[in-house]
Formats: sequence, C-alpha cells, structure tokens
Amino acid sequence: MQAIEIDSAVKTYANGFCALKNVSFTVGAGEFFALLGPNGAGKTTLISAMAGLGRLTSGSIRIMGHDTVRASRAARMSLGVVPQELVFDPFFTVREALRFQSGYFGIRKNDEWIDEMLHHLGLTEKADTNTRNLSGGMKRRVMVAQALVHRPPVIVLDEPTAGVDVELRHSLWTFMRKLNSDGHTIVLTTHYLEEAQENCGRVAMLKRGELVALDNTENLLRSEKGVRVELLLDGALPEALGGKAAFSDGLRYVLKLEHYSELADVLIFLKTAGIAVQQMNVLETDLEQVFVNLTGEAA
Ligand code: ADP
Repeated sequence: MQAIEIDSAVKTYANGFCALKNVSFTVGAGEFFALLGPNGAGKTTLISAMAGLGRLTSGSIRIMGHDTVRASRAARMSLGVVPQELVFDPFFTVREALRFQSGYFGIRKNDEWIDEMLHHLGLTEKADTNTRNLSGGMKRRVMVAQALVHRPPVIVLDEPTAGVDVELRHSLWTFMRKLNSDGHTIVLTTHYLEEAQENCGRVAMLKRGELVALDNTENLLRSEKGVRVELLLDGALPEALGGKAAFSDGLRYVLKLEHYSELADVLIFLKTAGIAVQQMNVLETDLEQVFVNLTGEAA
C-alpha cells in the first residue's frame, strides 16, 4: 500500500511561475520520509496540493489511495498536516480547540485520544488554558495535536522544529517515532538536516520544482564521494594544497580528498613544508553535505 502517490505533479501559478515541474514519487505506508529542498523549491506548494488546499495545474496526488480532488474528503481524512504558521482561534481553551477540530472531522467522542495526545505533547496541564495565553512553543504543540485529532494514517510536518526549544524538539520526535512505530506514515520537511538524517529512512530532494534525489538516507550518504579531513595547523596551508581546501578559518582547514590514499601525500607535503599538524579529524559524511552538493545551496 502506498501512503502518498504523486503522479506528474505540475503547478503553474497565476503569474505564470512554474513551482512544480512534473514531480512524481511515492511514499510507502509506514515510512518516515523527508521532503527536503532549499527555499523556493516547491515543498509548500506540494504539501498544499496534498492537503487539498491548492490545486495542481496537472497531475494527481493520492493519499492512502484517495485522489485529493476526486475523493477530497477521504483524502483529507487520511492526512494530517502540521503547518508552519501558528493559526488558531484564540478564544478556545486547548481542549475546546481540539474538540472543535474533532467536530470538523465529524468525530464526536474523542477525549480519550485528545488526552493521549496532550500527554505525549506535554500539554496535559494546559488543557484548560486559553490558547491565547500559551507560549509560542506550547502553541506549536497544540498545532500538532490539532493536525492529529482524526488520527490520520499519514502525517506531514512542515518545518516542525523551526524556532522550537530543545525540550519540545525532543518530545516531538519521541511522539513522532511512536506514531510511526504504531503504523503512521510520517513526512517531514526541515532545515535541520540532522533531524532528517536521524529519523528518516528515505529522502526526496526538490530543487526549483524538480526532484533531484530520491533514495534511502544511507544510499545518499554513501553516494557522497571522497573524504573530508579537518586539520588544525600551526601555520598557513601551503599554496600547493589550496585546491583541496573546502573550508578554512585561518588555522583550521577542511580538505576534501578523492581518497584516503591522498592523505599520506598531504601529510608528507606538510612535513616537508615545516608545518605541524596539531589536530586531525576525519569528518563523517552528513546529509547536509549531500544536500549542498545536489542543490548548490545550504539547507
Ligand atoms: P518552498 O516551500 O520549498 O520554499 P514554495 O512552494 O513556497 O517553496 O514556493 C515555490 C516557488 O513558487 C517559489 O519561487 C515561490 O516564490 C513561488 N510561489 C509560491 N506561491 C506563489 C503564488 N501564489 N504565486 C506565484 N508564485 C508563487
């Protein structure tokens, strides 16, 4: 069973700008999936189309087999999107807001699930607090609960940890991993690529409306060729080695080598030049680096 099927998605905005250029991919039921891309890549456009908020110009999206246009209600019932911005009615208490949202989905008795969500999100003590009196972090927790009131099999998190404190990040990930192990499909967009690397089994990367990568996280990390070595020197890097420097802040250099065998040559060269290595680290490949190589931008 596929949780999300995106088939030849094209979105051209009214001003003629094409934000999605024939994007196709699927997310299997039960996956923990990352949708990454620099600003302007088309992630929000794609998520809006998944949620039935924005229509594609052509192509189709199915959520748990339900077409987002032809079976929009069934598709909406299958999906919970945790949006980026904080938007909700400031006159309700937390519990009222969640009951109201349940009613929107036609669910009458939902208190058991609401209590469970409040517990996992550390909101139990705030259940009767008016939402306008909550801190930003607490409001975000309510947004997460709101997106999940109907226990959607597919959950999309749009930048869930942007500007969020460490404690909430931690409880959010613990909760998402639990939901995932209970069988929910999770799709995540984030600028914190270490979060994607840590949690997501598979990654799609978008760049200017096109899919530039779609693979297991491990395969993507393995695809990154070469070795990065960080050296702390007691002098400047000799010019002859300058071509290998990927980063420098004066005395610390990150060299990008084709292969480990080059390392011996570098060390011999430094010794000959009379420059001592004070510290050396081999840097592990991370998703950030793969992302930069594929998109030409920082996350
Ligand atoms: P992301 O979420 O990856 O940052 P978006 O989907 O928000 O990307 O935007 C993709 C591109 O579409 C951007 O270049 C953005 O300026 C453009 N865009 C978004 N909304 C509109 C709109 N309503 N009209 C015209 N262009 C838009």
